[in-house]
Amino acid sequence: MLLVRTVSGPAEVVAQTTATYRATSFNMSNPPAELLRQINWEIKIDRETVARFDDAGDTLRFDVPASMTGETIRVMPFVNSPSPVVSVLSRIVDEGSIHQESSNLIILSRADWGARTDLLRLGAIVDRSRRTKVFIHHTVIVDNDATANQWESVDEVKQKMRQLQTVRRQDLGADVPYSMVAFCMANGDLILGEGRGIDRSGAHTSGHNTAALGISFQGDFEHHPVPAQFNSQIAALSNWLRQLREQQGFVNLGTERPMGREVFAHRDVRASDCPGVHIFNRLSAIRFL
Ligand SMILES: [Zn+2]
Repeated sequence: MLLVRTVSGPAEVVAQTTATYRATSFNMSNPPAELLRQINWEIKIDRETVARFDDAGDTLRFDVPASMTGETIRVMPFVNSPSPVVSVLSRIVDEGSIHQESSNLIILSRADWGARTDLLRLGAIVDRSRRTKVFIHHTVIVDNDATANQWESVDEVKQKMRQLQTVRRQDLGADVPYSMVAFCMANGDLILGEGRGIDRSGAHTSGHNTAALGISFQGDFEHHPVPAQFNSQIAALSNWLRQLREQQGFVNLGTERPMGREVFAHRDVRASDCPGVHIFNRLSAIRFL
């Protein structure tokens, strides 16, 4: 019998538009079309079923009614019975709010932030298909103003990336230990500074540095709260991870994950606060599968 293993769909949908969801992997490779046609879909808000589509196939195009604005829907493809394990969450927003709240994602390459080229770039090349999981960290380096976990300028980000290149020289070597470093900007943007990068092993999570991408938020999220636009910033991070998986060859990313979440916290595998309680409490909102 056919079983759906994974599903993809948007993190945010504007009400009164059509959202597309896809069943993306199964218990068999290349299932025949007649089996795919038997896939049903159920949509829930909290525990209540709000829509059901029988024999809709592996792709669902859902016209989101205005009445769902402000809700988060859980979309589940299934053959036998729906399960939150194989589901995707979409926040339904109205058109006005998505413009206010949407975060731009900006990637700063090592050349962009001015990595020192006299220091050897560290990390061994890792094939994209070998990446199976994501670990989230925080750097515990804060901004010295009233908003410790929020950054005001791109120049500040570049300077902090250069600091990260050598700050753990003694124990982790003279390079940024993480794959990428995330900066929550005051204007709502999310900047990802390239550390080791997405194609090299890291030095962020002992025992997991080859199979995992390590993303670290710049700040101390144990002792300081998340910034005001954090929800849309982690939605931007989720979209970036989804794009890696669906379009850039990270086809196995997310096949290893903890119960109830799609990303690991550093503290899932080590006695540590990392990535801080304020991020830890929001980790289930990082969704890319
Ligand atoms: Zn950590």
